[in-house]
Amino acid sequence: MKKLGQRFSVAFRRFMTGRYGTDKLNTLLLGLGLASCLIGAFMGNDTLSLIFSFLAYGFMLLSLFRCFSRNTYKRYRENRKYMLLLERIRDRKHRYFSCPRCRQTVRVPKGKGKIAITCPKCKEKFTKKT
Ligand SMILES: [Zn+2]
Repeated sequence: MKKLGQRFSVAFRRFMTGRYGTDKLNTLLLGLGLASCLIGAFMGNDTLSLIFSFLAYGFMLLSLFRCFSRNTYKRYRENRKYMLLLERIRDRKHRYFSCPRCRQTVRVPKGKGKIAITCPKCKEKFTKKT
C-alpha cells in the first residue's frame, strides 16, 4: 500500500513538472467556487440555484486550468496583478491614478484635495481630486 502511494506521488510530481501549481489567486478562485456552490445549494429559486452552480463550476475549472497550466509566466503575471489589486484595496492612505498619456500608475497621498500630478515616467501633468 505504501508503495502504491509512493508511486502515485512520483507520478503526480512528474505530471506537475513544468506546470504552474497553486497561488493566492487560485485560493481565491477556489474560495469563490465553494461560496457559489454553497449559495446555490441554499437558493430556493431554481434558476438562481442553477446560475450559482454554473458559477461554482466556472471558478473551479478556472482554478484547475491555472493550476495545470504550462504557461507559468502568464499565470505568474495574473497572480501579480491580483496581489497588486489587493495591495491597493488595503492601502487607505493613497490613491492610484494611471497617467493619461503613458498609462503608468501613479500613487498619491489621499485627502489632499485637488492636486497637480506629474507622471514620473513621461512628465505629463494632470490634476486629480484625491
Ligand atoms: Zn506618463
